[in-house]
Amino acid sequence: MACVRLILGDQLNERHSWFGKVDAKVVYVMMEVRSETDYVRHHAQKVVAIFAGMRSLAEQLRKNGHQVRYFKISDKDNRHSFAENLRLVFKEVKATRLEYQEPDEYRVDQDLADFAKTCGLPAAIKSSEHFLDERKGVAQHFQPDAKRWLMESYYRVVRKRSGLLMDADGGPKGGKWNYDHDNRKPWKGKPALPKTWDFNHDHRNLWTEIQAAGVKTFGEPSAENFPWPENRAEALKQLRAFIAHGLPNFGDYEDAMNTTSDRLFHSRLSFALNVKMLSPQEVAAAAVARHEAEPDVVPLAATEGFVRQIIGWREYIRGVYWAKMPSYRDGNALDHQVALPKWFWDGQTKMNCLRCSIGQSLTTAYAHHIQRLMVIGSFCLTAGVNPREVEQWFLGVYIDAFEWVELPNVIGMSQHADGGFLASKPYVCAASYIGKMSDYCSDCVYDPKDRLGPKACPLNALYWDFWLRHQKRFANNPRIGMAVRQAMAMKPAEQLAIRKKADELRAKMDNI
Ligand SMILES: Cc1cc2nc3c(=O)[nH]c(=O)nc-3n(C[C@H](O)[C@H](O)[C@H](O)COP(=O)(O)OP(=O)(O)OC[C@H]3O[C@@H](n4cnc5c(N)ncnc54)[C@H](O)[C@@H]3O)c2cc1C
Ligand code: SF4
Repeated sequence: MACVRLILGDQLNERHSWFGKVDAKVVYVMMEVRSETDYVRHHAQKVVAIFAGMRSLAEQLRKNGHQVRYFKISDKDNRHSFAENLRLVFKEVKATRLEYQEPDEYRVDQDLADFAKTCGLPAAIKSSEHFLDERKGVAQHFQPDAKRWLMESYYRVVRKRSGLLMDADGGPKGGKWNYDHDNRKPWKGKPALPKTWDFNHDHRNLWTEIQAAGVKTFGEPSAENFPWPENRAEALKQLRAFIAHGLPNFGDYEDAMNTTSDRLFHSRLSFALNVKMLSPQEVAAAAVARHEAEPDVVPLAATEGFVRQIIGWREYIRGVYWAKMPSYRDGNALDHQVALPKWFWDGQTKMNCLRCSIGQSLTTAYAHHIQRLMVIGSFCLTAGVNPREVEQWFLGVYIDAFEWVELPNVIGMSQHADGGFLASKPYVCAASYIGKMSDYCSDCVYDPKDRLGPKACPLNALYWDFWLRHQKRFANNPRIGMAVRQAMAMKPAEQLAIRKKADELRAKMDNI
């Protein structure tokens, strides 16, 4: 007589109510399986980080007296599928019941639901006790047939419900809900960057085991000085360090990019959050507490900007995912068909902004939001790269890439492939934006001021070509109509020259 409880690799929440008391009739099952390592080619650090986190949780649970059946990637009896391993455990422990926590990924959700129906045992699905809202919360907030769901409207409701940064009279603290406009400074070397608070784990043995099992990855494993947290205690250290040293300047420099720092003042908490070592509520509350204790050091704008990412964007993105899957992943509203350039896999392009952002992503499995959106994403969108190829690249490369959060960010926010359902405008830029927000252009072979010459920055022709190609769709969009009208006001010869230059760039995309 035993209840088997399955814990997935992104369900490393030590504080889940399951673990509140030890029950001799409960067996926890955790597994490192090829079905999960192989559905897309992952960055080496992502596989190592998830397995290290799983092993750490298993050890913690055992120490606390729980029974854990753990399948390592190298175990001979590992059948490398959730269903097959579960059937094996059912026999071993004479199981009478299956329980699992709500998966966050559509594919896994479907697979486990199918298995639960056919496994011959009563099965129950439990909350992962992580998110602030239900899967259906976002969908219930909006009209089902609305053309777009604006994050801001949902954010206000969640903010009120959470009580974070709210005045006693029920209004937003400081009188404004959103301080985004105050958060757009470039960083020119000051204020000083905080010292890194990354970890330095030695995961060489685990990495050898992963390789020996034949798992195909890419990127730098960093096995000797592995930076990501293994468990909640480490994730909490990471949170505290960010609140102490990063948050004060997070807002001002949220959109800045610089070759001397991968992260600037960003938290790098997305991995710990997405595998549930930390809860969104505690992360947002820690930021608010610091602001309330020291409002002169941690301004309201920085705090609100950070809180909005966690309780606004993150929850909203998840709600869109659950409302729109599975068809959402096939969106290609702009009919973009260009193949992903080869240099996405080695960073070898002459465009310095892309070389730095992609190179950094391949080395560290991390890039901050503006690198993802305004450098890599904007390039793909203006070049017309197929959004599904872009999405698969993002899913493999980032340490925090789990489909529920990655897919709507790529398909919706970055590639406008959902026709503008999630983002009210396409996020695209030319060299002027990159030059303003970063130091990338100062060391680039291309000329950021030129559009058409042999040394012209490719982003310029691609940017104007994007508006010319899609002028009908965007001319009346109040958020970007100006740019479209500017493109349309160009002389016909100039328009033609831009279109021709952009086509030439597309024709030699692997070598620019
Ligand atoms: C094209 C694209 C792909 C992305 N893919 C992912 C992904 O696979 N996984 C992922 O967690 N985030 C993704 N994001 C959102 C965001 O870029 C990352 O969460 C962030 O860069 C992680 O770094 P950080 O922890 O230093 O974030 P910070 O800048 O310190 O922000 C704090 C936290 O806010 C949350 N957050 C911020 N923006 C978003 C957002 N748009 N959606 C959801 N959560 C957000 C994250 O949990 C993040 O840790 C993507 C964004 C874009 C534009
Ligand atoms: S000149 Fe163009 S390609 Fe080079 S770094 Fe600047 S924006 Fe990027």
